[in-house]
Amino acid sequence: MLLQVINTEKIIKAIRMFLEGIGENPDRDGLKETPQRVAQMCEEIYAGIGKDASEQIKVLKSQDHDEIVLLKDIPFYSVCEHHLLPFIGVAHVAYIPQGSRVTGISKLARVVDMESKKLQVQERLTTAIADTIMKALRPKGVITVIEAEHLCMTMRGIKKSGTKVQTSVVRGIFRRNPATRAEALALIMGNRE
Ligand SMILES: [Zn+2]
Repeated sequence: MLLQVINTEKIIKAIRMFLEGIGENPDRDGLKETPQRVAQMCEEIYAGIGKDASEQIKVLKSQDHDEIVLLKDIPFYSVCEHHLLPFIGVAHVAYIPQGSRVTGISKLARVVDMESKKLQVQERLTTAIADTIMKALRPKGVITVIEAEHLCMTMRGIKKSGTKVQTSVVRGIFRRNPATRAEALALIMGNRE
């Protein structure tokens, strides 16, 4: 196991200073408990920092299954490392097993969850999910698509609420074989409301 990286004491000090920095009074009633609360929240929302998400994957043996396994619309909540504001959305993960090597569907969702709980940019989150599954499960291929709304684009900057950023990463057979990739993308994008 890696070291626990969250240092509550440092966060409490920093949040107090941050409140002063934006012109607030950290001692007023509503803010007194805020540094402590933020520190506690960090333990949850940054629980993936310093952790290897590939440990979430348990390889199971099943009968040979040479078809696409797809987990769609996995909700995730991450934080952009440029502005420390949330970006939230859904991830779609598909893979084609190698021989009898499969994993539980919930494990794919756990990889998404753990990689989301790090400071991220959407492109790296997408890549990290695909590469983690490639490494731990060694399937024939992986495809990951993420659609997300970034509060740093909605609250500031271009201020376009509802704008979604889409990223995708393909590995293995999905990269080499356009027909297989097209089949997976049709499954992922099909029947959208
Ligand atoms: Zn940002």
